[in-house]
Amino acid sequence: MRPSDFRSDTVTRPTPEMLRAMVEAEVGDDLLGDDPTVKRLEALSAERLGKEAAVFLVSGTMANQASVAAWCRPGDEVILEEGSHPIHFEAGALARIAGVQIRPIPGRRGAMDPVDVERAIRPDKTWHSRSSLLVVEQTHLGAGGAILPLVNLQALREVATRKRLRVHMDGARLFNASIASGVPPRDFAACADSVTFSLSKGLCCPVGAMLCGPADFISDARRIRKAMGGGWRQAGYLAAAGIYALEHMVERLAEDHVLAKRLAAGLVRLPGLEVDPKGAETNVVFVRVRHPMGPDRFLKELEERGVRANAYTLDVVRFVTHRDVGPEDAERALRAAEETLRGR
Ligand SMILES: *Cc1c(COP(=O)(O)O)cnc(C)c1O
Repeated sequence: MRPSDFRSDTVTRPTPEMLRAMVEAEVGDDLLGDDPTVKRLEALSAERLGKEAAVFLVSGTMANQASVAAWCRPGDEVILEEGSHPIHFEAGALARIAGVQIRPIPGRRGAMDPVDVERAIRPDKTWHSRSSLLVVEQTHLGAGGAILPLVNLQALREVATRKRLRVHMDGARLFNASIASGVPPRDFAACADSVTFSLSKGLCCPVGAMLCGPADFISDARRIRKAMGGGWRQAGYLAAAGIYALEHMVERLAEDHVLAKRLAAGLVRLPGLEVDPKGAETNVVFVRVRHPMGPDRFLKELEERGVRANAYTLDVVRFVTHRDVGPEDAERALRAAEETLRGR
């Protein structure tokens, strides 16, 4: 039997219709600037987020890093929430690629207090690093897919503007935030100078992410993308999946959120598991394993019962919902978790 795969929304496969759009794509040489499908995806993305321009990249990591490198000089300081993705899950790229140092700020469910951010901004002295960029994450993965409230983002934007910092939004799951909150993506995006979003997660594309922002910034990011080895050629085949995703895969994210809530409600009733009752705002469910068997054995036994989930931290296991799991997979996961925990 097919495993019920809750490890990540990155495991989603393209649908037959998406594959058809890819096969039929009109392509050119993107690096030479004449792939019409890539251009269409970039224009569509910029338009959806209310930005001037966009660039299509291999991954969310590459998009975030191209952005940081375009906004910052080596030695600059980037302010981020302490649990943010670029700090923990991008292989040290902030130090390796842009050569920046980080200033982590604690958050509440991923949201930084604007007062803390303002305090962290360094005065302009020759002995200090230059505080040049603030990074926000929407949804916030480390906070279990939490949605940063629009008012919080607006307040952060105000501080950044007043203090002359740029704002980058790691919006890997920006569309999840929009669908769950009813706030249009461009309203969230208006709180940042640049925004990335993933095509290869809940939107089901095989690969790809977008970086959107002002035209001159996007032009810098293209040069950095090339320097990172990310300049590509007939990328239109992949861009066609992105266009299909933006046109057909956004609204359905609501189903993933319903499923995550259902899973969270079931898991919270099981012995030895702790689930944040305010959690599961979008498509991520974080579960703290208090059961003496520990998270490793819990995951292994789930796997033996055909259910896959992932370790997030030492004692937190995550379940992520997406198009390729449905209500029957959630039931299977709950059954498997119950059997495992009750030693049956
Ligand atoms: C997945 C993710 C990324 C990076 O995307 P990749 O395509 O895996 O490199 C960045 N930020 C957040 C919040 C993510 O969840």
